[in-house]
Amino acid sequence: MTQQKSGGGGTEQEPKGVKVPALRITQIRAIAERARELFDVQQAWVDVITLYERDLHRAGVVFDIAEQGEMDQDHGLTFPNQGVIQIREDVYEGAHANNGRDRYTMIHELGHLVLHDNVALSRSIGPHKWIEDSEWQADTFAAEFLMPVDLVRQLCQGPEDVARIFGVSRKAAETRWRKLQEQGLIKDDGAIRSRPIARVNR
Ligand SMILES: [Zn+2]
Repeated sequence: MTQQKSGGGGTEQEPKGVKVPALRITQIRAIAERARELFDVQQAWVDVITLYERDLHRAGVVFDIAEQGEMDQDHGLTFPNQGVIQIREDVYEGAHANNGRDRYTMIHELGHLVLHDNVALSRSIGPHKWIEDSEWQADTFAAEFLMPVDLVRQLCQGPEDVARIFGVSRKAAETRWRKLQEQGLIKDDGAIRSRPIARVNR
C-alpha cells in the first residue's frame, strides 16, 4: 500500500511522485469530465465539501479528517485500493472557507482515488516521465475537474476570472491559463467569451 502525498498543486522541476502507468492530459481530461458527470457537478464552482460529505460517501469512499499531528507535512493522504481519503483538519477547514489551495488539495486527493485505484504503485522513485508520475497525474486531474476547458473558454477572459469563478488560487489559475494557451485551447489575448459571467451560479 502506497500513500500518496499532496503538495497542493505546486509546479516542481522533477516528478516527485511514484511511477504509475502513463496517462496523457487528454485521457485525464476525459476521466475528470466523467467524474463531474458521475457526481452530477452542475456548477462551474465545485462544491468540494458537499462532494466529499455527500457524494463520495454515497459512492462508498471513506473520508477521514485527520489532526495536524497525525499528518505531519501531508495535506492529504489517499489509499486508493482501500477507498480511503484522509484530509488534514486545517485543509478541510480551509476548503470550507473557500480557500483555493485547500479546495485544490481535496480534488488532488480525489484524483489519486479515481486514477490510482487498482494500480500496483511502485515504491521505486527512480527517474520517470511526467505522464507516469502519480503526483503530476493527480494535479492534472484537479485542474481538469475544477477548471474544465470548455467552461474556462466560455466564462473567462484571464486568470483573474479563472480564480474567481472556479474558486482556485491565483497561482493555480495562472498555471491553468498558461497551459491552456500552450495547448492552443485559449487565445493569447483572452478566451472566446460566449456567455455572460453573470450566468455563473455559486
Ligand atoms: Zn498527491
